[in-house]
Amino acid sequence: MAERLQKVIAAAGLCSRRTAEEWIRAGRVTVNGEMPNLGCRVDPAVDVVLVDGRPLPGAAEKVTLLLNKPTGCVTTVSDPQGRRTVLDLLPPHLPRLFPVGRLDYNTEGLLLLTNDGELAQHLAHPRHKVEKTYLVRIRGAVTAEIRRKLERGVALADGITAPAVVRVRGSSGGHAWLEITIREGRNRQVRRMCEAVGLSVSRLKRIRLGFLDLGDLPTGKMRILNAGEIDRLK
Ligand code: URA
Repeated sequence: MAERLQKVIAAAGLCSRRTAEEWIRAGRVTVNGEMPNLGCRVDPAVDVVLVDGRPLPGAAEKVTLLLNKPTGCVTTVSDPQGRRTVLDLLPPHLPRLFPVGRLDYNTEGLLLLTNDGELAQHLAHPRHKVEKTYLVRIRGAVTAEIRRKLERGVALADGITAPAVVRVRGSSGGHAWLEITIREGRNRQVRRMCEAVGLSVSRLKRIRLGFLDLGDLPTGKMRILNAGEIDRLK
């Protein structure tokens, strides 16, 4: 339930309401990453309140979950065009989470969501080069030469891609299936790599991220990662 911010800070045992007001005025408090005003109301179960950059005692626990994203939703927390976001797929009792990285509106598959800022930064940092594997359905056939080009690196507008691992997983009904593993995470990278070598992508699904895979998680469903899994991600 939403209550006045100074009341929530005081109720956490940090200080009196009057002192909390002073802290808010002094810019020492943020709510969901933004500077609040004095009249701000927050729900301690969902809003992230930080005082001097630290969460309130007893604040929402850190939660990281793995979602099997369906097509037809965006991976931002809100959408100016009013499209469905991945947050609309989550049960309401969870704290406020944000997606780690992006998948396109029409890309499916493995997406992590978390309220653990440190973990998100760690995973997104290019230095850590987390492997991401995509299953790609291609219209038509894929020659050995095209597969080699994708593996060696493709010239895109933002530079040549790093070497990738590309496996042909078979073909049926006029389509070929590729499995492409990359360590970079540029915008629309797999689609752009395929376009650059003349391939037309009809379906794209992320099936692995580091050691995590989708297992038998149905499309649109999520599961919360356990402590061991979180440790392995760090
Ligand atoms: N590459 C893409 O082209 N799109 C995605 O959503 C992810 C990787």
